[in-house]
Amino acid sequence: MENHNDRRKFIKNVGIGAAAIGTAGLAGVLNSCKGQKQEEQVKKEEPKAQVIEWKMVTTWPPHFPMLGESADKIAEWVNEMSGGRLKITVYAGGELVPALGAFDAVSEGTVEMGHSASYYWSGKCPAAQFFAAVPFGFNAQSINAWIYSGGGMELWEKLYAPFNMKPFLAGNTGVQMGGWFNKEINSMADFNGLKMRIPGLGGKILAKAGGNSVLMAGGEIYTNLERGVIDAAEWVGPFHDLKLGFHKAAKYYYYPGWHELGTAFELMVNLKAWNSLPDDLKAILNAATYKSNIWMLSEFEAKNNAALRELIDVHKVQLKEFPEPVIKELKKLSKEVLDEQAATDPAFKEVYESFLAFQKNIYGWNKMSEEPYQKLKYI
Ligand code: CA
Repeated sequence: MENHNDRRKFIKNVGIGAAAIGTAGLAGVLNSCKGQKQEEQVKKEEPKAQVIEWKMVTTWPPHFPMLGESADKIAEWVNEMSGGRLKITVYAGGELVPALGAFDAVSEGTVEMGHSASYYWSGKCPAAQFFAAVPFGFNAQSINAWIYSGGGMELWEKLYAPFNMKPFLAGNTGVQMGGWFNKEINSMADFNGLKMRIPGLGGKILAKAGGNSVLMAGGEIYTNLERGVIDAAEWVGPFHDLKLGFHKAAKYYYYPGWHELGTAFELMVNLKAWNSLPDDLKAILNAATYKSNIWMLSEFEAKNNAALRELIDVHKVQLKEFPEPVIKELKKLSKEVLDEQAATDPAFKEVYESFLAFQKNIYGWNKMSEEPYQKLKYI
């Protein structure tokens, strides 16, 4: 009540001050200054800006290292940058909707946002896979260049618009590992009958090579590998693989992850929700995704090597590189799988063409930049 009375008193005084101007010389000016000061005090008492509350579903276990953490951080950063005007509550996979229900939940407007990897939506929208990873695709640096500066984002937005969603890049794993094997891979013949956990396009390529791709969640890999239900499994890279203890269930750790050379993560935002945001909150949300993209890649790059050293030095893991002829043949099969999909799916074809053109373009530059860089010896 006291505040209301004060407020009325201020308003009354402002009125008196304003009336005095022009009629009472210096006294009027003084009154007008007093009036301005009082006006400022009135402004401070105005009700606080509206707080917008959004929900973000994810495909990750709660606070999952780097991936779930990056979703948590986006919410934190947006809250900080917006002075608490946009509050995002993050839900782990299964908490609000099933992990792989994130796409539909955002598309249908059940929630405003989803944090995931677009290759999970290959069944609904096969072309979405280009914005996460395709075999022999981009590394982190190149996918950023393609999406941010090479026309990729426009294609991604066009692809998601019919689903009422706006996509953002939100992270990257960097180059992944090829996986854990209980059989050596010396030639393509070794893929014959090989049972491997390798999802998505990687799995299709394995099948073309004569192997069997077996689907299972991350939590089931260890037991199946240890019991011999599968002969091999790919997961992420040293940091995450060490945590799941795969070195206790498989003999060989192969590189490189030809099927995931720089897997990108996404933030999906419901278009109606996005359009309802004021411009400054749009800019804040966009900035938070850029921050998340560089944060996640930095975490992977900084922590993978320490984990790799532990796997080699402490757990005596046998590290192996896929032989060159095997990589060459896998590349050929990858091209066949992508070409086949493009022949039946116009949206896939459109994104594939942009992807191929940009790959060719960036390769021309990388031959003079990244390739010689990789050959330089560290000081
Ligand atoms: Ca993987």
